[in-house]
Amino acid sequence: MPNTPTHDFLTVATSLVMTPAIFSILRTAEVVQSSAVIVTTVICVAHNVSGMLFSPDLDLDSRIHKRWGILLFIWKPYKWCIPHRHFWSHGLIIPPLLRLGYFFGMLIMLIFATEVIARIFGFPLPAYHQSFARSIIDWFVMHPIISVSMALGFVTGGAVHSIADWVVTGGKYVWRVLFVPPGQAARVAQKSYPGSMKWLFNPFSRVRPDHF
Ligand SMILES: [Zn+2]
Repeated sequence: MPNTPTHDFLTVATSLVMTPAIFSILRTAEVVQSSAVIVTTVICVAHNVSGMLFSPDLDLDSRIHKRWGILLFIWKPYKWCIPHRHFWSHGLIIPPLLRLGYFFGMLIMLIFATEVIARIFGFPLPAYHQSFARSIIDWFVMHPIISVSMALGFVTGGAVHSIADWVVTGGKYVWRVLFVPPGQAARVAQKSYPGSMKWLFNPFSRVRPDHF
């Protein structure tokens, strides 16, 4: 699979291609210029945040974790629960949104844990976790276009990463099969076959592709 700098490059490069394309599509559809600018900006920012901060590789020890600094612990349960390079981390649509939902869920739990600890030490706090959750939901409901744009950017940011992993894994397999000494192709193919390539699409896939 490509390394983190390659994934970062692909994320930024695709956002640079996407930005004018999305803006011109919106303008062609006669969306008001100011709205087109806002939607395009939200999609492209979400695309980069998804690719570089909410990367599918949060399911393993990677440079992505260092980017979270002291908040790294938030992703530990995610890493323990999500198999590496499986549909639930590297799938195309659901996993990027799952990571976003997981992040907000963990923030709410963190606020709740703080309230519990404060109560134990005799400092009862209001139910901030409830008001925080309610304000997030209200915000998404009140801003449907921005919310959908954000979700779209998160999906494309994750998809660029997953497709790159998919292409490189399959490409290396083909390379090994084609460029091995005569007579060893079948053995190498069997040994290096990257498992079912369906992991990109199949949430029930039990096959874990080899790492190269
Ligand atoms: Zn990956």
